[in-house]
Amino acid sequence: FKPVQLFVGLTEQQTNQDYFLLSSFTSCICSTVVNSTELGGIQKLEMSLLHPRSELAQYKRVVNSQKCVRAGGKHNDLEDVGRDTYHHTFFEMLGNWSFGDYFKEEACSMAWELLTEVYEIPKDRLYVTYFGGDSSLGLNADEECRDIWLCLGVPASHVLPFPLKDNFWEMGDTGPCGPCTEIHYDHVGGGRNAAALVNQGSPDVVEIWNLVFMQYSREVEGNLIPLPQHHVDTGMGLERLVTVLQNKHSNYDTDLFAPILDAIHKGCGGPRYQGLVGEADIGAVNMAYRVVADHVRTLCVCITDGIYPGLSGAELVLRRILRRAVRFCSEVLHAPPGLLASLVPTVVDVLVSKNCYIINENEAAFLSSLERGRRIIERTVQQMEPSMDFPAEVAWSLYGNLGFPLDLIDLMLEEKGIRLDSAAFDELALEDAKVRGTLQLEGENVHLDVHSLAQLHSNNVPVTDDSPKYAYTLG
Ligand code: ATP
Ligand code: MG
Ligand code: MG
Ligand code: MG
Repeated sequence: FKPVQLFVGLTEQQTNQDYFLLSSFTSCICSTVVNSTELGGIQKLEMSLLHPRSELAQYKRVVNSQKCVRAGGKHNDLEDVGRDTYHHTFFEMLGNWSFGDYFKEEACSMAWELLTEVYEIPKDRLYVTYFGGDSSLGLNADEECRDIWLCLGVPASHVLPFPLKDNFWEMGDTGPCGPCTEIHYDHVGGGRNAAALVNQGSPDVVEIWNLVFMQYSREVEGNLIPLPQHHVDTGMGLERLVTVLQNKHSNYDTDLFAPILDAIHKGCGGPRYQGLVGEADIGAVNMAYRVVADHVRTLCVCITDGIYPGLSGAELVLRRILRRAVRFCSEVLHAPPGLLASLVPTVVDVLVSKNCYIINENEAAFLSSLERGRRIIERTVQQMEPSMDFPAEVAWSLYGNLGFPLDLIDLMLEEKGIRLDSAAFDELALEDAKVRGTLQLEGENVHLDVHSLAQLHSNNVPVTDDSPKYAYTLG
C-alpha cells in the first residue's frame, strides 16, 4: 500500500455543497476518482464528490455547530490549554455558511447585528481585523471588508489590518482559501482603547469569531486563482461567546466548566479552584484544575465518537491528552486513582443538558398529537369491515397533519392486527410530491435512491410518474 492523500478540489462542475462537505470534514460516502497523480511517493487522488448529504443540496445558507479538537496537526493548542483561560483541546465552533449566496457585506452585517443587537454586547468592547495584504502573493489589503465595517459604524480605531498569518485562512497547502475578518472582545473595557492588545495573546482581549471569505483556490504551484463562486465560512467559539455573555473573564468561570471544577474539588479535596492568578499560576493547582477540566471533556467527546487512546494518529493524540490529565490529577492535585472517570457524569450533564431540553420539547409537542391520532385510529378501526386494509387517507392525515412517522403508523396498526393500504398510500404520497414539487424521504430505506431523488430535486426537475417514488415505497 502506498500512502494516499485525499485531495478534494473544487471545479466548476462541483456544487457549493461539495465545499460544505469538504470544509466540515464530512467524509464522503461515495466518490469518483477523476484524477490520480503521484507526487513524492504520495498518491494524490482527486475526487468528485457525490452527495451523501443530499438534503443539503437545496440550501445556499447553512448554520451548524462543529465539535473541534485542536490538539495535534496544523492547529495544535495543547500547550496553551490550562496556561490561558480561552484555549481548549475540545471546543464547539458555531458557524454560518454561504455557498455562492451572500458574501462579505451581509456576513459582516449579520455578525454585527447578532453580537450587538441580539446579544447586546457593547460596541466599544469589540474590535475587528481585516486582511492587510501580502506583497509576495500580490494581494492587496481587503479594503472592501474594512469599508464594510466602517459603514456599519465601527470606529476606525477599532478596525485593524493584520497580515497573512492572522487574516488569511487556508486549511491545507492547496484548495479553497481567502481573506478573513475577525472579531475580538475586550474583557476589561472602561473606555480604554485596547487595539494594541488585539492578536497579542492577551487574556484581556480575546478573538471570538472568524469570518472567512472563500474567494481563491491555492494551486499546487503555490499561486492563487479566483474561485468561480464566492463562499462564506465562519467560526465562533461557543465557550468564548458564553464567557462574554455570562460576563466572565475566563471560560472556566462559565457554567460550561464550573460544575466540572466543582466535581474535581469534591473528588480530591485540597484547595478550591481560584481562577487565573497571573504567570505564577503555571504548574500550580489552578492550572491543574483547568487542564483536567478541559482534558476530561475532550476524552468524553472523543471516546463517544469512537476514538480511543492509542498508538497512532488521532488515538495517539488522545493518549497524550489522557496522560497529561492523569499526571495533573495525581501529581499536582494529589487525587486518588479514578478521579478522571468520576468526572464523566458531570461532563455528560454539561454537554448533553441540551439533549434533555430538546427531547422534552419534542415530547411535549407530540404527546397531544399522539393521543388524538390514537383516537382517530380506534374510531376508524371500529368502522372498518373485518377484512379491510386501513384506509390510506386516514394514514396520510396522521402522517401529514399530526406528524406521525410512517413506521409508527405501521406499528400501531400491526398491534391491532391490521395492515395499511400501502399501494393507495404511496399514490397519495406521490401525488403530494408532484403538487408540492418536493420529495419527502422517510423510513430506513432512505438510502435506496437518495442520489437520484436529490439530483432531480436540486435540478428542479418536476416529479413525474416515471420519477423514483418515495424511498419508503421502494423499500
Ligand atoms: P486563537 O487566535 O485564539 O488561537 P484561532 O485564530 O486559531 O484562535 P480560528 O481558527 O479562527 O481560531 O477559529 C475560529 C474561532 O474558534 C475562534 O475565533 C475562537 O472563537 C474559536 N477557537 C479557536 N481555537 C480555539 C480553542 N483552542 N479553544 C476554544 N475556542 C477556540
Ligand atoms: Mg489558534
Ligand atoms: Mg487567531
Ligand atoms: Mg482566528
